[in-house]
Amino acid sequence: MALIVQKYGGTSVGSIERIEAVADKIAKFRDQGDDIVVVVSAMSGETNRLTALAHEVMDQPTPREMDVLLSTGEQVTIALLCMALEKRGYGARSFTGGQVRILTDEMHTKARIREIDNSRIFAQLEQQNVVVVAGFQGVDEAGNITTLGRGGSDTSAVALAAALEADECQIYTDVQGVYTTDPRIVEGARLLSQITFEEMLELASLGAKVLQIRAVEFAGKYKVPLRVLSTFEEGPGTLISLEEDTAMEDPSIAGIASERDEAKLTVAGVPDVPGIAYKVIGPVSDEGIEVDVIVQNAAIDGTNDVTFTVKRAESDKAKAILDKVAASLEAREVILDKKICKVSLVGVGMRSHAGIASKMFKALAEENINIQIITTSEIKISIVIEEKYLELAVRALHSAFNLSDPDGENSSK
Ligand code: ASP
Ligand code: MG
Repeated sequence: MALIVQKYGGTSVGSIERIEAVADKIAKFRDQGDDIVVVVSAMSGETNRLTALAHEVMDQPTPREMDVLLSTGEQVTIALLCMALEKRGYGARSFTGGQVRILTDEMHTKARIREIDNSRIFAQLEQQNVVVVAGFQGVDEAGNITTLGRGGSDTSAVALAAALEADECQIYTDVQGVYTTDPRIVEGARLLSQITFEEMLELASLGAKVLQIRAVEFAGKYKVPLRVLSTFEEGPGTLISLEEDTAMEDPSIAGIASERDEAKLTVAGVPDVPGIAYKVIGPVSDEGIEVDVIVQNAAIDGTNDVTFTVKRAESDKAKAILDKVAASLEAREVILDKKICKVSLVGVGMRSHAGIASKMFKALAEENINIQIITTSEIKISIVIEEKYLELAVRALHSAFNLSDPDGENSSK
């Protein structure tokens, strides 16, 4: 018998039939004797629908009222799911975030959880009830409804699991788990049985959008065992856990992430003096533009080139800022390249396995793919290449590192 927190996303509760199916699933766990706390999202599309309504009234809806509005989506699904459970003869109680007392700060529409009162939930579990909690919401000190930002139900589930010291937090979604890479790009992409929090964070922030990043950070911080699995198909999914727990598998590479829609900006021929990187990057990030990969070459003739990447959608704005900066610094020119992408190899095993980088570069060389920028961290190597080579690069790396094969050379060293 275990205490399990289960989170069902918008697609999993997207219709009455699906809510009934979720109730059947929960019933099975109850029959095994597990204590179940469920967190649900709003029905798929509902949060978008409510947001659109608000924007019909005002261009910039008041954040406090936005939260009152958006939190209703989840209030609908908690009630319907409890009804479906009761119909099946299972005791169930729904709670909004405020009723549990999921206390957050006052930052409407992007609030952070401060504290969770677990007493009401434990009292319900004691009475053999399934507890169904509205995801994505809480309440501030003054009693105002707050929401946690899009995708926030994942974070609600992880935070509840931490507060209840649950045995596992299960995130049910419309994919089977976390894959070695995007299965739409590589046919042989393999479902990972385990991955570390650190690897998941890298994969999540690099575009493998399975889980809200904040939820993964939270789970890592509070050591909540997190499992991603499918609502619709049976299977163990992917367990996200601490490094020491995954020692058995010890693959050098966990997966490959890729990001399209990037752009590269170069300010060429800036004087090689202190403060230049700040003068170039500062004005861009001051405008709220997120700067990603940054490289500055070593000076040979007293001038430098500073290159960095931004989201393609923000690249024209960044270029306009840089044109002004370049004029004041008397830089030679500003070059914008909108046809680039980023591909990253991720794995904690990189720490202990040498030769990963050279193997990566060899695989790309064999496909004649020109690498424009290389950056590395302890558990990640990222390259910037021409966008048209994205699929080719991902496939080449997937096969070079044998990621389709669970017993391949990449596993158990
Ligand atoms: N309903 C919210 C959203 O669509 C929260 C969530 O689903 O996690 O973003
Ligand atoms: Mg979601």
